[in-house]
Amino acid sequence: MFKKILIANRGEIAVRIIRACREMDIKTVAVYSEADSDSLHVKLADQAVCVGPAMSRDSYLNMPNILNAALITGADAVHPGFGYFSENPGFAEACESCGLVFIGPGPETMELLGDKARAKETAKEAGCPVIPGGDGLLKSEQEALEAALKMGWPVRLKATAGGGGRGIRIVNSEDELSNAYRVASAEAEASFGNGSLYIEKDISDPRHIEVQLLGDKYGNYVYLGERECSVQRRNQKLLEEAPSCAINDETRRKMGEAAVALARYVGYENAGTVEFLLDSDGNFYFMEMNTRVQVEHPVTEFVTGVDIVKEQIRIAAGEKLSFGQKDITVRGHAIECRIIAEDPSNNFAPSVGRIRVFVPAGGPGVRIDTHIYDGYEIPPYYDAMICKLIVYDRDRPSAIKRMKRALSEFYIEGIKTNIEYQQKIIENEYFVKGDITTGFIPQRMNR
Ligand code: ADP
Ligand code: ADP
Ligand code: MG
Repeated sequence: MFKKILIANRGEIAVRIIRACREMDIKTVAVYSEADSDSLHVKLADQAVCVGPAMSRDSYLNMPNILNAALITGADAVHPGFGYFSENPGFAEACESCGLVFIGPGPETMELLGDKARAKETAKEAGCPVIPGGDGLLKSEQEALEAALKMGWPVRLKATAGGGGRGIRIVNSEDELSNAYRVASAEAEASFGNGSLYIEKDISDPRHIEVQLLGDKYGNYVYLGERECSVQRRNQKLLEEAPSCAINDETRRKMGEAAVALARYVGYENAGTVEFLLDSDGNFYFMEMNTRVQVEHPVTEFVTGVDIVKEQIRIAAGEKLSFGQKDITVRGHAIECRIIAEDPSNNFAPSVGRIRVFVPAGGPGVRIDTHIYDGYEIPPYYDAMICKLIVYDRDRPSAIKRMKRALSEFYIEGIKTNIEYQQKIIENEYFVKGDITTGFIPQRMNR
């Protein structure tokens, strides 16, 4: 097992990884930017190294500084968390060539799955049903038009390097195409340094359902059930649950097996998530694979009892999975609300400043993953998600009641948050019925 792990990330996910390491008797190294010296991950780690100025590109994306921090402190592995370098094959390769173990899949696998258009082709080859669409990358607007006329409007233009909901545009008709093409490509170029787009059919009012899987170095794979992530704003998840109330055991098994088939096909190693869309007729289609730990992994941890971050570390250290598919049972129901420093009454504008009072929820079945605390100042440079509130109970109605209770006692003063907005979601009659699609927020929360 590793003796020391460097965590190449910040915020709640860095804290989450440090906690796993501590329980495994592994020493930790935090990296931080000049704006993050007061962050909880810096305080909790055994060692901390400042890797640069506030802007992420100068610190959390400063590859030489991060690698040097790992080498100077004698770390033997690097956990990338999510975002940042987590899906960057160049970083994984650089770790390897410095003698550091990258906790994630190999660079070749990452390369294959990180390009979303190529990942779709690969999934098709592996026998996964994929969202109908054009072949590979678009070379021109004209090509997009031809593909759209063939499959019928509406369509989606999507950035092949996309993530976090960026670089996606719905196109309803020919006259919207030109503008959408330019905007999507420019957004992708600005966010990911790669403006390449692909096109696919816009699935009408789908659910987003994803399968968590684990694979070790010896070809053993398990899927840990699914997560329902249909509650989204601007293609970004806001609230997630496990299991999904929309699928039966047979669909659950088919989705799980499709996800594992893809993982096996590419020789996937470590934790990964295969994202699917489920249409109103119950068909599911591969959308993309995330080759990293996900924001919403705790809901799966609650219902399966598997610690996904510890498994990532064990797999990377060369251990065999200690359980098989038959050992995995999904019990009860878990819900996660992403608590975001933003102002829902002002078009969800980010809110920064000092946390004056922080009274997190607690009690039975409640988990809080966060890097904030009383007196912490939220810097303006990073993702606005400041906390994850996760609850668990025996079934969906009880979990909803528990989340309602937890949100009502959660109190943060000093900044604006979406806590009340999450309360409205949890109380929404359609949500309570389980009648949720990716159109839930625009269609049902428009008040
Ligand atoms: P990202 O890489 O940003 O996570 P995804 O490809 O996973 O992008 O898509 C993000 C979200 O956008 C999905 O969860 C879904 O709500 C919506 N979406 C993406 N593609 C389609 C599609 N073809 N039809 C309908 N909705 C889609
Ligand atoms: P998940 O599927 O785990 O919910 P998201 O797509 O929402 O993942 O992204 C996880 C986090 O990483 C978010 O905070 C998002 O802002 C960030 N992120 C995702 N992709 C990128 C990217 N390509 N560049 C920068 N940040 C990203
Ligand atoms: Mg996605």
